[in-house]
Amino acid sequence: MQQGTSEGREEPDQGLWQRLPPNPLAALRQVAEEQERAGQALLRLEIGEPSFRTPPHIIAAALASLQEEAQTYGPSCGWPWLRELLAEKIRRVNGYEVSPANIGVTVGGTGAVQLALLATVGEGDEVLLPNPGWPHYYRQLAITGARPVPYPLDPASGWLPDLPELERRVSARTRLLIVNSPGNPTGAVFPREVVAALLDFARRHRLLLLSDECYDELVFEGEHVSPATLLTPAERERGIFIGVYSFSKTYAMTGWRIGYLVASQTLMRSLSQVLDASYTSLPLATQRAAAAALSGPQDCVAQMRSAYRQRRDRAVALLKRYGRYEYTPHGAFYILVNIASKRDGRQHSNGSDSAPSSAFALELLRRRNVLVVPGSLFGSRTVNHVRVSLGAEEETIEQGLSTICELCEEEEHAPGVGEAREHSEELGQH
Ligand code: PMP
Repeated sequence: MQQGTSEGREEPDQGLWQRLPPNPLAALRQVAEEQERAGQALLRLEIGEPSFRTPPHIIAAALASLQEEAQTYGPSCGWPWLRELLAEKIRRVNGYEVSPANIGVTVGGTGAVQLALLATVGEGDEVLLPNPGWPHYYRQLAITGARPVPYPLDPASGWLPDLPELERRVSARTRLLIVNSPGNPTGAVFPREVVAALLDFARRHRLLLLSDECYDELVFEGEHVSPATLLTPAERERGIFIGVYSFSKTYAMTGWRIGYLVASQTLMRSLSQVLDASYTSLPLATQRAAAAALSGPQDCVAQMRSAYRQRRDRAVALLKRYGRYEYTPHGAFYILVNIASKRDGRQHSNGSDSAPSSAFALELLRRRNVLVVPGSLFGSRTVNHVRVSLGAEEETIEQGLSTICELCEEEEHAPGVGEAREHSEELGQH
């Protein structure tokens, strides 16, 4: 573990921050900010954030709360009226029965994952997580001290989990399996039989199953299957399942920071302790906004979903035109673009580079003013991919994707082009 010093003073080497892997996106964003300060207009396709504003009736509910009621502390797991509505939503969208007592309101899905991990794993435990997967899983596990064990998703199947590979990675120390469908960064939606197989795997090895369903309402084809729908009543009671949900994507509420988790009542008791110790409770006005989102008209969700679907279709068509099509995301709002050479599958940048996607992303930003996320950020399976967010406006996506494909072609015909590669080491990877 690195031991930092500042002006002769020893920094404590047990600080949590020292366990966190570096965030390579921060370095890219810094370059982007410099470019923006210099007056360059960027196409930003890195943010996992809807281009839409929060629907007005949701904002109105928060404003009314601020004006009409005292903004006090509240129950650590969330106000009962919101948890009632959440139980209904779980029934309506996720297809299983749950009582408000099984629900805790959290600071986004991020807070839900963090609480769940803090309450269930620690030093000496191993946690299986998807590769490629949301980088926060790694960062949050670093805080708990548990060891991340990535399991591969397979590009040949549209990024579904490779079950024999999962079996190979389980050990006596494995405690928890993280599943994310619809997935970030792939957009893959796991079919029912895959979800059943994952649950079966968790059962056989006596693992807790954390199902991150933050994109549950952003499915374009097929159906979202929550593993909870396949549990026996005894399993529900015993509590092998933790479900993680969010308002961020469904209702364009990323900055409101509200999500929730579902767990057995026994587990909820530990979770509520961690929750109470972590941040006491969420703002009342935010919870009113969330309640309005659930009880108000749902056509805003359908409209946003159909816009994302249209963007997905345009992105897929464009990649096909350029000969860079690899798979069709069935949900969420991301697409992974393979930047490897079409001729021989060679890494896009110089062959010795262990993080071609970082080098490519930096080059794309410096030379073409397009910002994407290097695939290396999501794990070792995507070092030859970049992630493009379909949360951005359609024109930005099309322009950005064309630029990516053109830069790939340029490199293919004149490998070695681009001075930015020299700086790729600045970005690091994990
Ligand atoms: N899970 C996944 C897979 C995500 O992509 C995100 C956000 N990018 C989250 C959870 C958490 O989102 P939030 O905290 O905004 O609810």
